[in-house]
Amino acid sequence: MSNAVAASKRLTLGEPLPLLIGGSEIAADEHLDAVEPSTGRTWARIPAAGQTHVDDAVAAATAAFPRWAASTLSERQTALGAAADRLMADAERWPALLATENGRAIREAGLIDVPTAAEIFRYFAGAVRSMEGRVIEGAPASSLVLTRRKPLGVVAALVPWNSPIISIAHKLAPALAAGNSVVLKPSELASVSCIELVRLIADLFPPGTLNVVTGDGAQVGGPLVSHPGVAKVSFTGGTDTGKRILTACAENLTPALMELGGKGSLIVCDDAPVDTVVEDALTGIFAANGEVCFASSRLLVHESRYDEIVERMVARADAVVVGDALDMSTQLGPLISTAHREGVIAAIDRAVAQGAEVAAGGTAIELQGELAGGSYFRPTVVLSPVGDTSASCDEFFGPVLTIETWSDPDEAVARANDVAYGLANGIWSKDIARAHTMADRLDSGMVWVNQWFATPLGQPQGGNKASGFGREGSLTTLDEYSATTVVNVSLDETRPPMWT
Ligand code: NAD
Repeated sequence: MSNAVAASKRLTLGEPLPLLIGGSEIAADEHLDAVEPSTGRTWARIPAAGQTHVDDAVAAATAAFPRWAASTLSERQTALGAAADRLMADAERWPALLATENGRAIREAGLIDVPTAAEIFRYFAGAVRSMEGRVIEGAPASSLVLTRRKPLGVVAALVPWNSPIISIAHKLAPALAAGNSVVLKPSELASVSCIELVRLIADLFPPGTLNVVTGDGAQVGGPLVSHPGVAKVSFTGGTDTGKRILTACAENLTPALMELGGKGSLIVCDDAPVDTVVEDALTGIFAANGEVCFASSRLLVHESRYDEIVERMVARADAVVVGDALDMSTQLGPLISTAHREGVIAAIDRAVAQGAEVAAGGTAIELQGELAGGSYFRPTVVLSPVGDTSASCDEFFGPVLTIETWSDPDEAVARANDVAYGLANGIWSKDIARAHTMADRLDSGMVWVNQWFATPLGQPQGGNKASGFGREGSLTTLDEYSATTVVNVSLDETRPPMWT
């Protein structure tokens, strides 16, 4: 366990951060504390927006919309490419900010979060050139029927705290590529990175195209998603919040994209190479502190490999370096907050009361000195062999792996599907025919074969069932942020004799 503190990198922002509305930085009357998970100290103050700020942001985005909607694809491509460049040019600054903000291990923030966010902007800088309408064949020769893809208007984008700049890029890049303006509402637990990211790139777009309102979810997000001026809600977050937002959207018939929770199973067959499976399973559950919607939070192991894999996963979980997110040797930082840690522990206790067994971790870690207020938690392995406890269906949203066993492939697939969620699942087998056959029967938006977590841009990301609907990160995402308009042109003046 690492105790070293990279004090020189620990950030403190003295001045309260502003709201970003209509191209201006707006000071708020009230603020919320941004608490560093590694230490429990307040490191920044974020603005707590009110109803008026939400109204102002939607009005600014509405006013900016026609100008950005009229931009050429070349202008959009240039602006999105420049956003990617600025992010990478600024790459040194981001890992420390992200690690301070949500406890992401600094090493991982630099390796994954920053380049991935930049790559999303770069992908949509290219993808925007694929936006085109169609000429509809089959119409009478006397007419020309064509379609156009038109932007929708103001997009309300709401994101969670776990991978803030990646989630924000997944909203901003396609929404802007399609010609919309945006009001962004980040999580109250990770707003600094959002404000800083928009400050970095906002001037690449007409003033008011990009706006940020921060504050409490229900108080700021609530009025935003029910605002009649919003043309589309794009939400990433918890399933229960998603349901509340959809209810609000119903009032104005506002369409929504929903990226919600998950409970992913990695099914391990008897012929899988155990060394690689263990590496994939470790990454699948402990990357990003396990606070990932598409974590491999269940490992369903064939009975012939169960004991071996349990033993190895327990040993490896115990060896994970937990500590200060700002320490380069840390592999697993603190959870986002002590309240979230209490929730994870309570969820483990529920599973244990139903018969699950904790084989590794399961408890908080109290570090010393400056780190004493941090929300550290041991990497955890829970055994629920026949999948009959809540450890097999509840989303812990932390570094908690549930290991189960099976003897019949049909049983493994049925169990993986027998959860409310349908975001990501995986199969490990050297028998490609078997892997494909099983993969085809898994009910989730993503299925990985012989790996976990591969999400190249272009591959649609999103879920089924309680994991939501809509796909991010691909060409089809542009359809989420644009609407088909038909133009049907008559080429002659003859009409059927209806009125003569
Ligand atoms: P959350 O649902 O609590 O909050 C998400 C966002 O919604 C925040 O900005 C929050 O302020 C806002 N919000 C909260 N209540 C609201 C309300 N009543 N009206 C409008 N907005 C409201 O989620 P979280 O705790 O920040 O994130 C964790 C969850 O996000 C997990 O369930 C995780 O699986 C999910 N997630 C999903 C994906 C995906 O791509 N499917 C990605 C990351 C996280």
